[in-house]
Amino acid sequence: MNPWVETAAIFVAGACVGSFLNVCILRWPLGLSVIHPASRCPACGQKIPGKLNLPILGYLKLRGRARCCGAHLDPRYPVVELLTAVIFASLWILYPPKVFLVYAILSAGLIVASGIDWDHLVIPDGLTLGGVAVGICSSYLVPELQNQNHSPDAMVRSALSAAIGGALLYLLAKGASWLLQKEAMGVGDAKLLAALGAFLGWPSFPWILAFSSLAGTGVGVAILLGRKQKTGVKIPYGPYLALASLTWILGGKQLVQKYLFNNSVYSGF
Ligand SMILES: [Zn+2]
Repeated sequence: MNPWVETAAIFVAGACVGSFLNVCILRWPLGLSVIHPASRCPACGQKIPGKLNLPILGYLKLRGRARCCGAHLDPRYPVVELLTAVIFASLWILYPPKVFLVYAILSAGLIVASGIDWDHLVIPDGLTLGGVAVGICSSYLVPELQNQNHSPDAMVRSALSAAIGGALLYLLAKGASWLLQKEAMGVGDAKLLAALGAFLGWPSFPWILAFSSLAGTGVGVAILLGRKQKTGVKIPYGPYLALASLTWILGGKQLVQKYLFNNSVYSGF
């Protein structure tokens, strides 16, 4: 098949997955089924007809307002759909199909984790601890994920990276809480870095921690400056960990291998 047609098909599939991820972000924390019932208007609860339920296009066609009751639709819905589509298409261009599939699953999980963390300041264990399990299994099935040739080696490396990631962020969180005399990061963030380790291996940690803390600090300072009240604002760290990991798989890894380590140190991991 023509590679452009393939990539376009992956883009459309990504937009549809993104639409499902929106449902997960809304319903998972409430303990509701993500499959049943079908999409309803978030404002008045009316069923949304199929032709208006198209990802991205539905929002544009309605110009951001619900047809049933005229309520403003959260622009986050089309943004999540577009983001998922762009990430899936980019991953398809960058990686062989097996690695693409694993990274697509990881990205979907990260988008849901970020959305829930953003709304509720918590990341469900199903995503983080479930992510550790899926990451270890994926590393066995696709050892390239851990830069290994043999499945058992890749699995051990994945499990070790999960343990290191979890312990590292747990200690950082405890240290930061002690320094700031308040809870700085949650245990959920430690579990998230464990899951990221299981998928990406521990060589990704310097990038992920540096990128996420810079982005998180920047946005945190901007929020604090924009508010009159200077304290008591809780900022979720999960979305920044997710953003940092996405930049790692979308080029950060290649950049570090090529320029910082001259293809030597990091490629041996
Ligand atoms: Zn409505």
